[in-house]
Amino acid sequence: MGTLSGKTALVTGASRGIGKATAIRLAREGALVAVHYGHDPAAAEEVVAAIEGDGGSAFPVRAELGIPGDVHELFLGLEHGLKERTGSTELNIVVNNAGVMGGVAPEDIVAEQFDQLYAVNAKAPFFIVQRAIGLMPNGGRIINISSGLTRFANPQEIAYAMTKGAIDQLTLHFAKHLGPRGITVNSVGPGITNNGTPVFNMPEVVEQMAKMSVFNRVGDTSDIAAAVAFLAGDDARWITGSYIDASGGTLLG
Ligand code: NDP
Repeated sequence: MGTLSGKTALVTGASRGIGKATAIRLAREGALVAVHYGHDPAAAEEVVAAIEGDGGSAFPVRAELGIPGDVHELFLGLEHGLKERTGSTELNIVVNNAGVMGGVAPEDIVAEQFDQLYAVNAKAPFFIVQRAIGLMPNGGRIINISSGLTRFANPQEIAYAMTKGAIDQLTLHFAKHLGPRGITVNSVGPGITNNGTPVFNMPEVVEQMAKMSVFNRVGDTSDIAAAVAFLAGDDARWITGSYIDASGGTLLG
């Protein structure tokens, strides 16, 4: 029996990268996982197939975040999928992982880009939590994927970092609000993590990025999934309102 046997989980942005590794890990621990994606159904189906091939349970849920009606669409699919498989809409674990990076200099960012970053990275997670807590029994888990960029400066990512700062505030205030129900709310802050984008195939770039970690390597998605799995389990019952640094020591200077 895994540590999450009998639990249900939603992982947003689980069609690739950190979300994919997290969905696979939570399913390996025994959870039934809703694999959320925005635009790539084939990738989400592959994640579901990998989980099922491993003996786990999962189903895909589509919803483009950052547009009107996004969270409603997400929960329609989620509740339908849960009900079909468990007979109820009970949701034990939410991982707010879906996110987009900015990569625009402070002088160049325009209001539409800023609004889009905020809508996907901060506004959607807020309303996902608001909606999820109606389905969550006492003892639930909410884990928000933040970023090491809330702790050190990178002007190219100022707008993105602001959205992740908002995620940390979401964690702090909901942790207090949901404490009486035994629901924990925490942030996990990755450093540079190999999410499979082409830059991670360029050895000289990877070598430079690796130097940011005291372990002299870039993060693997499984490194982040492991931190999330810990927070999702009963062993983390006394941890709430925290920012868990999962950057391989990037912040140690
Ligand atoms: P990826 O770009 O690899 O994956 C992003 C996921 O989010 C995909 O599943 C994508 O689904 C989904 N997604 C993106 N935009 C939307 C949208 N508008 N609506 C619905 N789904 C969407 O991301 P990473 O794995 O690299 O990052 C995951 C999280 O970790 C993010 O919050 C990111 O900010 C954070 N992070 C990542 C770091 C890194 O180095 N990789 C470092 C620090 C933090 P689809 O393609 O189907 O739309």
